[in-house]
Amino acid sequence: MTIVIAGAGIGGLTAALSLHAAGFTDVTVYERVSELRPLGLGINLLPHAVRELTELGLAERVAALGVAPSTLAYFTRHGQRIWSEPRGLGAGYRWPQVSVNRGRLQAMLLDAVRERLGADAVRTSHALTTVEHGAHADVASFTTPDGSVRVEANVIVGADGIHSALRRQYHPDEGQPRWNGLILWRGTARVPAYLDGRTMIMAGDGVQKFVAYPLSPPDVDGTAWVNFIAERRYDGAQQAADWNRAVDHAPIIDLFADWRFDWLDVPAVIAAAEELLEYPMVDRDPIDRWTHGHSTLLGDAAHPMYPNGSNGASQAILDARTLAWHLATAPDIARALAAYEDDRRPATTALVLSNRRQGPEQVMVMAHERAPDGFVDIDDVFAPGELADIAASYKRAAGFHPDALNGRASLSPPGRR
Ligand SMILES: Cc1cc2nc3c(=O)[nH]c(=O)nc-3n(C[C@H](O)[C@H](O)[C@H](O)COP(=O)(O)OP(=O)(O)OC[C@H]3O[C@@H](n4cnc5c(N)ncnc54)[C@H](O)[C@@H]3O)c2cc1C
Repeated sequence: MTIVIAGAGIGGLTAALSLHAAGFTDVTVYERVSELRPLGLGINLLPHAVRELTELGLAERVAALGVAPSTLAYFTRHGQRIWSEPRGLGAGYRWPQVSVNRGRLQAMLLDAVRERLGADAVRTSHALTTVEHGAHADVASFTTPDGSVRVEANVIVGADGIHSALRRQYHPDEGQPRWNGLILWRGTARVPAYLDGRTMIMAGDGVQKFVAYPLSPPDVDGTAWVNFIAERRYDGAQQAADWNRAVDHAPIIDLFADWRFDWLDVPAVIAAAEELLEYPMVDRDPIDRWTHGHSTLLGDAAHPMYPNGSNGASQAILDARTLAWHLATAPDIARALAAYEDDRRPATTALVLSNRRQGPEQVMVMAHERAPDGFVDIDDVFAPGELADIAASYKRAAGFHPDALNGRASLSPPGRR
């Protein structure tokens, strides 16, 4: 079976590794850019994604890339703790959560694809334009620096990100991604380690927010690489959703000038960033069909979502493993693609919509609405069990409640575990 994947992001590369592990040998990834440079800042691999990478034999390489957070904690804009919970192994999962640099993760996956599938398995400077459908195979057309190329394949996977060409073929009027009025400024900085050195924090309300998590353990001098996202609601026209747009630090430091907590100096963290990248918080409306002929969508091409809940890369990894499982176990390609979509589309649709309602981060908005000037005791603000229920229901919706994940059967096809 010939399988073509468009896009060498986290989703496309994991799909190639998963298909190879499931026994498919003729798998090629076509990538638009001429050189895959390690772009992007921090992302979180949640336990359900780390499980899949572990089953692909990549656990040690993933662990070496980052830090396993011990705790996730929510604070008010005054630095008062609302809720905290253990993460990863400490929360009862059989797999850790790992905070990594996106570019380093992509580079590690690229190396693994080339080692396992061959040096020629990833072809750069190939931008997917369209797919035509035949009875037994589809044909993908790519533009290249030398003109265009047509490739026939039994399965074509559009893993080509939030501006997917394959998705646009079926939704030509969809236009730009939908903006919710929030602007994100993302950066990494070497700063004094905070709290236990392994805690992911979120502080703020519905208007302004600061998220930080370490990407390295504390060094001997007590500093660590910390990834952060500063966020603010704005009126005005949306900018293009470009992951690499750099902006000045000064206005953003001003916005957070009084966010100096006794456990973290937010303006100092922003000031220490080497580079500040601006991005509008965008997603797309869920669509009612991913599969046409022998082509389907995966990752951000299928379900771009807000980063609340840290789920974008993890869901792309789950898509990749689920697709490979069904292609290896279903009686034919049509039924495999239908089963993949049945498994993944409703689940990711629910997540896109849940993230629009702020996912588990709604506790910061609720605390602000109920106690805008702060509180003496958080139990005066939330009913008994309310905070725990919010955290548990998001985990269930995202497929990573510890009981569900620990008990779920492997997505490695029988005989290939
Ligand atoms: C440069 C970059 C930086 C990012 N930085 C962050 C970050 O800091 N934090 C964060 O949370 N998320 C970031 N993301 C998004 C995050 O990686 C994804 O949400 C998540 O990993 C899902 O990945 P994906 O593989 O589905 O899509 P993506 O990671 O977007 O990968 C899609 C790939 O497809 C390629 N492509 C696009 N169009 C075509 C085409 N027509 N033909 C062939 N190939 C094509 C792209 O070049 C890219 O390599 C970034 C994405 C990119 C592309």
